[in-house]
Amino acid sequence: MDGIVVIGGGSAGITVAARLRRAGRRDVTVVEPSDVHHYQPLWTLVGGGRAPLPASARPMRSVLPRGVRWVRSAAVGVDPLTRRVLLREGEIGYRHLVVCPGVRLDWHRLDGLADAVGHDGVSSNYTGPHAVEMWRFIREARTGSAVFAMPSGPIKCGGAPQKIAYLAADHWRERGVLGRMDVHLVLPGPAVFAVPEYAEVLEGVARRYGIHVHLGSEVVRVRPSAREVVVRGPDGDRPLPYDVAHLVPPQSAPDWLKTSPLAAPSGYLDVDPRTLRHVRYPDVFGLGDCAGTPNSKTGAAVRAQAPVVVANLLAAAEGRDLPASYDGYSSCPITTGRRTLLLAEFDYSGRPRSTVPFLDPVRERTDHNVVKRRVLPFLYWNLMLRGLV
Ligand SMILES: Cc1cc2nc3c(=O)[nH]c(=O)nc-3n(C[C@H](O)[C@H](O)[C@H](O)COP(=O)(O)OP(=O)(O)OC[C@H]3O[C@@H](n4cnc5c(N)ncnc54)[C@H](O)[C@@H]3O)c2cc1C
Repeated sequence: MDGIVVIGGGSAGITVAARLRRAGRRDVTVVEPSDVHHYQPLWTLVGGGRAPLPASARPMRSVLPRGVRWVRSAAVGVDPLTRRVLLREGEIGYRHLVVCPGVRLDWHRLDGLADAVGHDGVSSNYTGPHAVEMWRFIREARTGSAVFAMPSGPIKCGGAPQKIAYLAADHWRERGVLGRMDVHLVLPGPAVFAVPEYAEVLEGVARRYGIHVHLGSEVVRVRPSAREVVVRGPDGDRPLPYDVAHLVPPQSAPDWLKTSPLAAPSGYLDVDPRTLRHVRYPDVFGLGDCAGTPNSKTGAAVRAQAPVVVANLLAAAEGRDLPASYDGYSSCPITTGRRTLLLAEFDYSGRPRSTVPFLDPVRERTDHNVVKRRVLPFLYWNLMLRGLV
């Protein structure tokens, strides 16, 4: 076999496969165990009561580009010397490999979370079903304490842990009960957002809702029996009671990738941050959440990375110099309320950046429903996954 094998049929895998097909390649295989494709950004709106869960999922077959072979199995290893992907059952050879299996949700790494999630007020938008439960807990809350927390270490969509805090607070405001809720946002970094211009806007949003922001802090334990979490901060550990809690599992590279020759010391895929080519195995490229690049892990980053991977892979296949470079672009549209949104676009330079000239990425937008619920999903399903943007 001498074709192109893509590991993972998520946002990155389908986008890359579609672009390779458009470039005329007829030898593209996607290895993907799931028969459902998820548009995960919608889970934030599901948890905030702004979208139904089924709108986030489509059959895998319906998003796989025509002419692409689907191997419905999971990769369990890669031997880059003999150019083979080891599968749960069997193996498959490649001439070029694109690695994009996403990240692993490490529920067990936050003490007590695996047992607590989905029960008695604790949930997480990081899976579709849990997002549904999140909305139920938010909807039923009338008074008490609410905790929204982000773990340390890289996670996909670093804005998601605070988006749901603002959606929930705005819901309670609309219901006239926000004054009876004690809302806490627990964040590990020194600021609410790494880009200062966006941090300033978001600090104002948190103030508007009366949210207590705990910086340099992390939830390290969940005690459902006491209905409290333990927050580790600059002054040590202290308990914080909750009636509702949105917690996010720590994340890491998939186990098989961590232990494969393709991994960087971090466990993530060891690719060059600009060319997205593997630093030791030139036949291997990678993108998306599994990549050990310093950008923020989002679908928007995938949209910017996919054309780079395809252009560079095709050039490598023809023995040409790699023509394309990824600049670290990412975007994390932050829902600052039930109808407001901050686009939050930036790149490796850590400066705000706008891809749409007439839209100011540092200003809250009031057409949230249209952009987040309609425009972005439309672009995703109809243009990005078809390799058109
Ligand atoms: C709650 C939430 C909100 C988000 N909000 C936004 C947002 O507003 N904007 C934004 O741009 N991004 C957002 N994201 C992030 C975005 O969804 C991801 O960054 C994006 O999906 C990454 O694409 P990917 O292809 O790398 O991984 P995924 O889309 O997760 O796909 C990985 C695929 O690999 C498959 N796979 C796993 N293991 C194997 C294996 N061993 N072999 C073969 N296949 C395998 C999986 O089944 C899956 O189909 C959000 C994510 C979450 C969870």
